Amino acid sequence: MKRNEGQSLTPMMQQYRELKEQHKEAILFFRLGDFYEMFFEDAIVASQELGLVLTSRESGENAPPMCGVPYHAADGYIARLVAKGYKVAICEQMEDPRLAKGLVRREVVRIITPGTITDDKVLPEKGNNFLAAVVPQGECYGLAWADVSTGEFHVKYCASFLELADELARLNPAECLLPSYWLGKTDIVKRLQTWYSGVFTPWDEGLEPDVGLQLLRERFGSQWQLEAKGEALAACSLLLSYLLATQKNTLPHLKPPSLVEDIAYMALDQATRRNLELFLAGREAGRRGSLLWVLDRTATAMGGRTLKRWLERPLVKLEAIRERQEAVKELVDNFILRQKVEGFLKKVKDLERLAGRVAYGTAGGRELQALRHSLEVVTPLKEALKEAKAPLLKDVTKELDAIPEITDLIARALVEEPPAGVKEGGLIRPGYHPEVDRLREAITHGREWIAELENEERERTGIKSLKVGFNRVFGYYIEVTRPNLSLVPADYERKQTLANAERFITPRLKELEQQVLGAEERLVELEYELFQELRSQVLAVLPRIQATAKALGVLDALYSLASVAAEYNYTCPVVDEGEVIEIRQGRHPMLERVGEGGNFVPNDTFLDCGRQRLHIITGPNMAGKSTYIRQVALIVLLAQVGSFVPASWARIGLVDGIFTRVGAADDLFAGQSTFMVEMREVAYILSRATRRSLIILDEVGRGTSTTDGLSIARAVVEYIHDRIGARTLFATHYHELVELEQYLPGVKNYSVAVREQGKDILFLHTIIPGGTDKSYGIHVARLAGLPEDLIRRAEELLKGIYQEGEKGSGKKVQEGLQEDYRILLRAQGEVLEPEPVTRSPEEQPPKSRRTAIEAEVLKELENYNLFNKTPLEAMQAIFNWQKKLAARKKVVRDEQQLRWWG
Ligand code: ADP
Repeated sequence: MKRNEGQSLTPMMQQYRELKEQHKEAILFFRLGDFYEMFFEDAIVASQELGLVLTSRESGENAPPMCGVPYHAADGYIARLVAKGYKVAICEQMEDPRLAKGLVRREVVRIITPGTITDDKVLPEKGNNFLAAVVPQGECYGLAWADVSTGEFHVKYCASFLELADELARLNPAECLLPSYWLGKTDIVKRLQTWYSGVFTPWDEGLEPDVGLQLLRERFGSQWQLEAKGEALAACSLLLSYLLATQKNTLPHLKPPSLVEDIAYMALDQATRRNLELFLAGREAGRRGSLLWVLDRTATAMGGRTLKRWLERPLVKLEAIRERQEAVKELVDNFILRQKVEGFLKKVKDLERLAGRVAYGTAGGRELQALRHSLEVVTPLKEALKEAKAPLLKDVTKELDAIPEITDLIARALVEEPPAGVKEGGLIRPGYHPEVDRLREAITHGREWIAELENEERERTGIKSLKVGFNRVFGYYIEVTRPNLSLVPADYERKQTLANAERFITPRLKELEQQVLGAEERLVELEYELFQELRSQVLAVLPRIQATAKALGVLDALYSLASVAAEYNYTCPVVDEGEVIEIRQGRHPMLERVGEGGNFVPNDTFLDCGRQRLHIITGPNMAGKSTYIRQVALIVLLAQVGSFVPASWARIGLVDGIFTRVGAADDLFAGQSTFMVEMREVAYILSRATRRSLIILDEVGRGTSTTDGLSIARAVVEYIHDRIGARTLFATHYHELVELEQYLPGVKNYSVAVREQGKDILFLHTIIPGGTDKSYGIHVARLAGLPEDLIRRAEELLKGIYQEGEKGSGKKVQEGLQEDYRILLRAQGEVLEPEPVTRSPEEQPPKSRRTAIEAEVLKELENYNLFNKTPLEAMQAIFNWQKKLAARKKVVRDEQQLRWWG
């Protein structure tokens, strides 16, 4: 801009400079007639980013660079800039340029940023676009987030940096506000960026406690309050002040911030969400193959967002889980109701975002009609739900509000298929407003009279080809072709000469024109006024629309879970506060859907916090270990979401969190030491998990050399077993770990059954008790098609190693391991010797699994409190004991089989 300093600017460029000065952080879209123009640096950036041609309004090499986009196509360009992380300030003409005296008044009406975009075309249909704000206070953080397209607003208090980072990774906000002093600390921002890749924006307004509280009270009412610490409140006011400043709108659809409390939800960190492929799956990290992909049958965008939120935050309160379960169960059992619900939901549009557009004043006739059609579904839907018995379905029904006064009004006021724009007329239905009807009549008549006038003039002049036409510049005219000009009467006034015709007007024609054009202009104005009135009436019921949208979202998510459960033959798990996780014929929800179908081998699981608390699952690569342990975690997660589960029967003793870690070789982070990542995440699990948690570890220790890896794996098992006591599945190809069963009372060995047929092996994918002592690596290599010579050489080498081993080095490895473990603990700053574990007699390794089962059943029977059980529960318990006793036989069979396979 230096070039122009000191020179006199045109008044318009002066105006531009002033506006730009107030919005330095944004690219200014400056409205000039039918274009948005950008100047100076903005023009250079935009021309590069959008591939626009740089021009100039003036000539000469120092003329300011500029570029522009037509106003009707601006949305796409804005979206592209915002997607690249830019902010765009929209400057409009605030008065009609034709009527303006002197310079047209212009104002910035909105600043669009990555976190505040509302354009339907770029927003994820069933997802959210969040703006977040973080306010640190010592080691703690307030985190607020909102989606301006739907109006939701939440806040959370994070007790550590890790918790904050994890929450940011979960929400993945498009933009995150930070106080500028904090954003200045580059190391913090760098750390955050390893978790979250969005845009950071410095912002300080609303940080002061008094100012912030006042701002929130002004917006949400003087009664409004939040039971949260100061930094959470500050995050809310920081976010709100940014929204008000950029949106230049009171945001009537924004809900008061609701507090998200961790105690209501299961701990589910980012690594776990990724490992379990909740939302993205496979190497390409696409939706296909993910849990959401299997479960999402939602018919509406609200339902899609609700379901995603449920999967992100499974519940831990029994009552809340059972409430959802009952509703899902009713929809599973009542096929007719489910069908009806589906039929109605399919007609519902994105009410949340429609409400947002009403709030922003960007809803047109089409949006209001979409809103009406969506709300018109509510009455028959409520009727269908009348018979529902599940409390949650009753709640939903109660919340649904058809708002008939609004749907009737829209139906009466608007034509069935309104035009896209709202300022060109054609919106208002005949019969709604007398003046609209009168004007329309005047226009129609005027046009008829003009048509009549054409006939009269043809007769009067005898010119057969005479015709009346219209254009924007001259209005109505009479056109006479050149050969007929001699017949033109004296009262014709010449207006325009064309190559082979002349155009005239007459006083009578002008009179009629006045009537038609005046009426047209007035009509367009009046229709727009009436439309705005209508829109403000819709605005007045916004909270009711939002409540209905929310209820529809819940209903849709329940419907989705029910229809998946019914179609894929899921069962309703028994969820209780016990410590047992028992699954019969469990399946992996995604794998059973992506495979050829029918090939999936189901598996049973029994975990408790006692002697079956830590399963070591061994077996060759590709046998199905990872699939199995993830399947258990997914079933537990689904049960606590309130969903049915892929199993023939399941009992889930509530878990407070699921923690997973997959050994480093599976995922290749570029640039970071994979082993370092692996160990950091294991450390995180060890610090967070409790006795109530479920831990899933897959090949931990694989990222380093064999002896290191083995010792770390073993130390991790011991630590979890002795110190945490969490229910744990530990899959490993280190078959050396099976001996832990002898030392640790809560450890049980399992393996994936494999059948050897000559030189080949067959993976049975069945989990059986007992460990394996073979890794079958060479068999797998053969399966993979390596040359036979190479395989033979490997077998020779292996034989050599085993013979070595027999000469005594095996014992050395054993001693080395114990030493490694001590070193590891020392390095962690832990006590040198593991705490002695007190083992009750019955925790001693049982002589055989058979007696173990018997002892267990007896103990359960002994402790069974008959008096707080229903007859049905008691029957179930007896049934379970019988089942267990029956399983004794299977154990014996398995033992025989094992001997046979071994
Ligand atoms: P591992 O962890 O033991 O190396 P995976 O769990 O990755 O093995 O399983 C390897 C492959 O075996 C999977 O991709 C899947 O195709 C198949 N598989 C695993 N479990 C089952 C099962 N229960 N039923 C059918 N196929 C399975």
